[in-house]
Amino acid sequence: MSTARLIDGKAASQTLVARVTEAVGRMKAAHDRVPGLAVVIVGEDPASQIYVRSKGERTREAGMRSDTHRLDAATSQADLLALVDQLNNDPGIHGILVQLPLPDQIDANAVLSAIDPDKDVDGFHVVNAGRLAVGLPGLVPCTPLGCIMLLKAELGDLTGLNAVVVGRSNIVGKPMAQLLLAESCTVTIAHSRTRDLPALCRAADIVVAAVGRPEMVRSDWIKPGATVIDVGINRVPSRDPVKAAEGKTRVVGDVAFEEAAAVAGAITPVPGGVGPMTIACLLANTYTACCRSMGIEPDALTL
Ligand code: NDP
Repeated sequence: MSTARLIDGKAASQTLVARVTEAVGRMKAAHDRVPGLAVVIVGEDPASQIYVRSKGERTREAGMRSDTHRLDAATSQADLLALVDQLNNDPGIHGILVQLPLPDQIDANAVLSAIDPDKDVDGFHVVNAGRLAVGLPGLVPCTPLGCIMLLKAELGDLTGLNAVVVGRSNIVGKPMAQLLLAESCTVTIAHSRTRDLPALCRAADIVVAAVGRPEMVRSDWIKPGATVIDVGINRVPSRDPVKAAEGKTRVVGDVAFEEAAAVAGAITPVPGGVGPMTIACLLANTYTACCRSMGIEPDALTL
């Protein structure tokens, strides 16, 4: 039986989007400017097409300019870099997002490095990773930014809490650890070579799971009352054997939700936890980038 409070990422994301929309409205009234987000997609990957369409819709709903550049799957790296250069120099565009994955002929790192760091609303550029590491204002990757907002809304001051981040990717695990450190948590980053991961997690007040392994974190890994943030998005066969035989799937996180919820103090569900916050943080980053391009302080965007 679940005893944990459910951290409702969908509701939180709606709150954040509403705050961004209001801030954009104030910017338009005061400066006659709106933030602009350019999303670039190369090829026909169906999941990427859905993400890109949804990002465009949400950007427009927040009162911002949204440009989508759809390029052929055979596009050369040189042509994509030329488009990035054009967007870097477009004063009406404040955020540039190149949807991953890219086709094999294109080096994703070369493209991400070509984006102006001040327009890098995904926060993947090494300059933004460096700014985060040394505590300078920059653009923070959207998923960990959403996680830290949920944690602060749930727990308030995080000072002195023990946090374990499982996963050390550049887009989730490492920036998540930096954000927790900036909140004065004592942070441990775990990964596939970590010894006795269950015992490590059991000592944590906060567990962030960003692994990509379905339901890996079990209830006996969690300290009673701890806060659990599940970043994982994993497709597994449907519970119904007939549907599973038809190839139907369901989405689960990296945490065994039902059993973990019986021990944790608070937990994010999958779906409906971290996922919805990611796109809301993309809008927040675009607004922030626009303010900085104008030399004005962005309004505080918290939950
Ligand atoms: P990566 O595959 O880049 O990184 C996974 C990390 O997990 C690696 O550091 C790896 O360790 C570690 N790991 C793998 N197996 C184990 C294990 N058995 N024990 C401990 N650690 C392990 O994944 P991402 O960081 O990109 O994504 C993680 C998850 O988050 C995925 O499910 C992804 O779909 C999801 N995701 C969700 C988003 C959202 O919006 N909600 C956005 C981005 C990602 P090592 O480095 O040693 O290999």
